[in-house]
Amino acid sequence: MGVETVLDVLERYPRRYLDRTARADIAELRVGDEATVFAEVRRISARRSRKGRAIVEATVYDGTSMLTAVFFNQPWRERQLPEGTEAAFFGKLDEYRGKPRLINPVVDVLGRLGENTGAVVPVYPQSGKADVFTAQLRKVAAAALDEVHSRGGLAEPLAEPVRRELKLVSRDWAIRQVHRPDDLDSARRAQRRLRFDEFLRMQVGLVARKRAIESSRLGIRHAVDGQLVAEFHKALAFPLTGDQRRVIDEITADLGAAAPMHRLLQGDVGSGKTVVALSALLTAVQGGYQGAFMAPTEVLAEQHYLSSRTMLDGLSVDAPGTLTGDRPITVRLLTNRTPAAQRRTMAAELEAGECDIVIGTHALIYADTPIPNLGVVVIDEQHRFGVEQRAVLRDRAAESAAVPDVLVMTATPIPRTAAFLIYGDLDKSELREMPPGRTPVTTAWVGTEPMAREAAYATLRAEVADGRQAFVVCPLVEGSPRVEAKAATEELDRLAVEDLAGLRLGLLHGQMKPADKEAAMTAFRAGELDVLVATTVIEVGVDVPNATVMIVDGADRFGLSQLHQLRGRIGRGGGRSFCFLFGDPTTPDGEARLQAMVDSTDGFLLAERDLEIRGAGEVFGGKQSGFGDLKLGRLPRDAAYVEWSRRIAEAILDEDPELVLARHVPLREEVHDLLGEDVEFLFKS
Ligand code: ADP
Ligand code: MG
Repeated sequence: MGVETVLDVLERYPRRYLDRTARADIAELRVGDEATVFAEVRRISARRSRKGRAIVEATVYDGTSMLTAVFFNQPWRERQLPEGTEAAFFGKLDEYRGKPRLINPVVDVLGRLGENTGAVVPVYPQSGKADVFTAQLRKVAAAALDEVHSRGGLAEPLAEPVRRELKLVSRDWAIRQVHRPDDLDSARRAQRRLRFDEFLRMQVGLVARKRAIESSRLGIRHAVDGQLVAEFHKALAFPLTGDQRRVIDEITADLGAAAPMHRLLQGDVGSGKTVVALSALLTAVQGGYQGAFMAPTEVLAEQHYLSSRTMLDGLSVDAPGTLTGDRPITVRLLTNRTPAAQRRTMAAELEAGECDIVIGTHALIYADTPIPNLGVVVIDEQHRFGVEQRAVLRDRAAESAAVPDVLVMTATPIPRTAAFLIYGDLDKSELREMPPGRTPVTTAWVGTEPMAREAAYATLRAEVADGRQAFVVCPLVEGSPRVEAKAATEELDRLAVEDLAGLRLGLLHGQMKPADKEAAMTAFRAGELDVLVATTVIEVGVDVPNATVMIVDGADRFGLSQLHQLRGRIGRGGGRSFCFLFGDPTTPDGEARLQAMVDSTDGFLLAERDLEIRGAGEVFGGKQSGFGDLKLGRLPRDAAYVEWSRRIAEAILDEDPELVLARHVPLREEVHDLLGEDVEFLFKS
């Protein structure tokens, strides 16, 4: 079950609690009552119905009367409930031929409760696979508690006044009560404390990391008053928005300081983050350093590469020893697909200082192509980069003398609380203002009715007749890019003869050769294709302002933020735009997502909704940033805990920056467990 230490045992918290004082006596129950009875299995039998369905019947007795529990299609109950088993049965009382019975009740096997079991019985998450049941877990937890108790109990990292202020019970009391509560209220108070501790650990790690970076003198003081950035801004086809100017100023201030920058830039899809990223990279370049721009996918890296080259066209950098004294700025693309020969050339260029900016996927940080003079790193869509990659980046930096400045960008708007949790170690900047010229997208949710679908295709055809372009996004096939690609190809063939006959259709999916992908994108960008039939590879970064229609097929399979990203591909030019979400959701969550898309185009609002619908672990991925380690905590429900624990973590580190006080040593070890070697970096002494 993944349990290796005593602490692992203690942190397998009960899933819920059964209050024996709230139990019902079988003799008192009336037909139609919903109740929990605690009873012992007296007889169990299994048979099959005439149609072959498994029927298991357990006769149970609670000291007042007998009752039959009937299970349909659950043959394993026979093994789970041997005669003599004590269990809690929850269900609605029914009657059959004058005898009381429960049909398919919820069952918690309790095992022998024994004399000293309290009124409240913890129910543990069972592992059918490991064949471990709640009774065994209760026993193991009890043994672990005794062990801990015999050694003086758990250490208390929180000072008394803090506990009093936050009304938190002691940790030692909490760990005992969570496993052996006196009553339900005690269990609740215990959970509250342990939940706080989970968040505290994380915040101590993040605040410590932030401070270690801030106090580091190993950063680079970039030449912030060079000409290159000014020239770049002057050459743009548009004036910067107020927000872009403000954020560029914030970044410039960081770049000019000795401490390495560690900043998060949030900005909704289309808010103009690329210009900000390039400004930061050019600040490095104008001082003679090199810049790296990392994207999560090949397509996005290619897209950044193409648009950066266009935007930087005409800029030059000093090149002493050449005839003119300067040379055009050099931007290169490095992905896993870059051929070895090209890599070698690039490595040589980098070494000689002839390459200024490298754009790529995370191949960049693992690649054996060192960037000898790395000054600024921009990481786009960080939430797809795990903590692991951040660490590698840091290690690479550690080998050289100077630590590069890091700008993390995300278009997934992160609600404030979650931002604290994931990016608690970063400073934050935000682009709230959209560049002028963006048009709101009208979104419609289209079910399965052929008429409605036909109307969507008609809108698409009308827009194309107007000289506009469109995307058709094919359904997501989880974990199977090959099947997904095949489905996209088939959809293209179908559309070509049916709904979109006569239009110029192109195909784009992840399984295509890079050259073919490139060709499709180029043709679409040049207006040689009317419709791009694509998988989610277009999710981020594809920038074709002339595209005004998007149809997302199988929209119910996409996450909310993914849909928002997709929709961000249209509404980029002057024209009004239309997004049609084809979907027939089978769950209330699925419906809620599609409805949210129809109701709002505000990325922040949608992100909050996404958190509510799915919870933080799902939204931001499991292991990364310690989300997988939240056992009791959950967002957004526990938003308040994040803020409290943040404040307390800061106070603890104010008082004891290296966590060396006796009371803090265990906390330091917990943070170590959570964040791994990162802590060596944090607490140097
Ligand atoms: P993001 O990466 O934040 O989604 P981009 O950087 O791709 O957004 O910018 C979206 C579009 O807006 C691009 O076509 C870009 O050229 C354009 N753009 C960026 N800044 C401005 C501005 N200040 N005024 C007008 N258009 C802008
Ligand atoms: Mg972008």
